[in-house]
Amino acid sequence: MNSSLKVRFAPSPTGYFHVGGARTALYNWLVARKAGGKFVLRIEDTDETRNAEEWVEGIISALTWLGITWDEGPYRQTERSAYYQRAVERLIADDKAYWCDCTREQIDQRAKERGGPPGYDGFCRDKSKEKTPGAALRFKIPRPGKTVVHDKIRGEVVFDHENLDDFIIVKSNGSPLFVLANVVDDIEMKITYIIRAEEHLPTTPKAILLFQALGVEELPLFAHLPVLVNAKRQKLSKRRDRVAVEDYREMGYIAPAMVNYLALLGWSPGGDREFLTVQEMIELFDIGHVNHSPAFFDEQKMQHFNGVYIRELTVDQFVEECLPFLEKHDWWEGSPTQLWTFRQVAPLVQERVSLLIEAPEMVAFLYRPVEISSDLVESVLRKDARSAQILKEIGEIYANLPEFNHDSLNEATRAYCETIGTPLRKVQAPIRVALTGSKVGPPLFESIELLGKDVTLQRLASAGALIGTL
Ligand code: GLU
Repeated sequence: MNSSLKVRFAPSPTGYFHVGGARTALYNWLVARKAGGKFVLRIEDTDETRNAEEWVEGIISALTWLGITWDEGPYRQTERSAYYQRAVERLIADDKAYWCDCTREQIDQRAKERGGPPGYDGFCRDKSKEKTPGAALRFKIPRPGKTVVHDKIRGEVVFDHENLDDFIIVKSNGSPLFVLANVVDDIEMKITYIIRAEEHLPTTPKAILLFQALGVEELPLFAHLPVLVNAKRQKLSKRRDRVAVEDYREMGYIAPAMVNYLALLGWSPGGDREFLTVQEMIELFDIGHVNHSPAFFDEQKMQHFNGVYIRELTVDQFVEECLPFLEKHDWWEGSPTQLWTFRQVAPLVQERVSLLIEAPEMVAFLYRPVEISSDLVESVLRKDARSAQILKEIGEIYANLPEFNHDSLNEATRAYCETIGTPLRKVQAPIRVALTGSKVGPPLFESIELLGKDVTLQRLASAGALIGTL
C-alpha cells in the first residue's frame, strides 16, 4: 500500500469519449485502488472547443457507467487560471521564460535563410523584451543538455535539448498552453504518478523541464500506455473505427464486460487467464507489466466477452439491463403484462444474445403484429410445397390441445412430424416464420406458449393464407 500515491485522469473534452481514454482512466484507477491512493479527475478544457460541455458530460457519464470513481474533482482548468498566472510570473522572475514577438513568417523566413530544420531559433531569448500585445511567452530550454524520461513501460528515453525548441507556454492572447497548465496542475494537485497515452511521450521532456523550473525536486513517475490499433494495425481513429464508449453502450455492452476487456488492452494477468472480477484486476494489475507494443482493439472479442458477462447476470439484472433497449421501441409500453411476458422469456433470450440491443428484436413478435418479409415468404414458406398444409394441420392440432404449454406443444409437434415423415426442423421453420416473422429467436415451443393459443392460431392461419392464395 502506498496511500500517498496520487494519479489523475486528465481528458481534453474535444469529442466523444474514446475507448483509449477509457483504458487510460481504468489503468490509473486500478493503480490508485491497488495502492489505496487517490484518483483525480481533471478536465483539461483550456482549448476553447465547441461542445465542450456536452463532451464533459459524456466523459462523466461514461466513467460513472464503467464504475471508475474519482476521489477528487472533476477539476476544470478553465477555473484555475490563477495558478497558471502565478507559475508564469515565477518563470519570468527566474529568467526561465521570455517574451517573443516573432511572427510565424519571420520564424519561417529565418529557418529558410539558415537552411536548417524549421522551427524557432531562439531569436528573442536574450533580448529581455517586455510583453507587447502580439507577444507569446516562451520557455528557455537549458542549453546544452539532455533530459531522460524514466518510463515505467518504455524504460529510459533520452531527449537531447538540441531537438527541443523554446516552446510557447502562454499564447499571445494570454491563454496558457496545454503543457504549462498540465504541469502546474500536476504540481498543485501533488500528482505522484503520470499514466497517460503514448502520444504524450514527446512532450514529456518539456514537462520535466517545467517541473524542474518550477522548483520540483522529486519528479512524478511516468508511464506511457501503448496505442490502440485496429485489425489492420492502424491507430484507432474516430474517422475509421468505432471508438466512442457511448456507441458501445448504446449497442448493449454491459459495463463489467467492457471494463474487463479494456483491462486486457496492453496487460495480461498471466497465463491464459482473461476473465477477472474488478477486485481481481485491482489485486493483479501491475503497470510495470504493461506491454509497450500496440494493443489490438478487437471488437469481436469484446463482443464475445459481453456475451459471457450477459450470461452471468441474474435474470432480474438482465431484465433491468434490457429495459432501456426495450423502451426505444414504440411497441413497448412497459405495462405489468408486457413486463411479465418479458420476464418469462428473458432467461431464453439471455442465453442467445451477445449485445443487449439484440434482445428487443428477439422478443418483438410477442408484442406487435408479425410481418413476414417477402424474402422469408420465398426462402422459407414457399420453399417446401407442403408448408401451407403443414401450417393448416399443425393449427388444427394446436387448437385441440387440452393443455397449451411448451411440453404439450413439443410432444404434439414431434408426433405430427412422425406421422408425415418429416424431420422436426423442417416443420419448425415455417411455424417459426409464421409466428415470429424471423428465422431465429428463443426456443420455439416456449415462444408459442407465451404467445398464447389465440394469437398462435391466428398467425398460423394468416401465414397459411399468404402462401395458399398463390
Ligand atoms: N489532456 C490530455 C489528453 O486528453 C492528457 C494529458 C495527460 O494525461 O497528461 O490527451
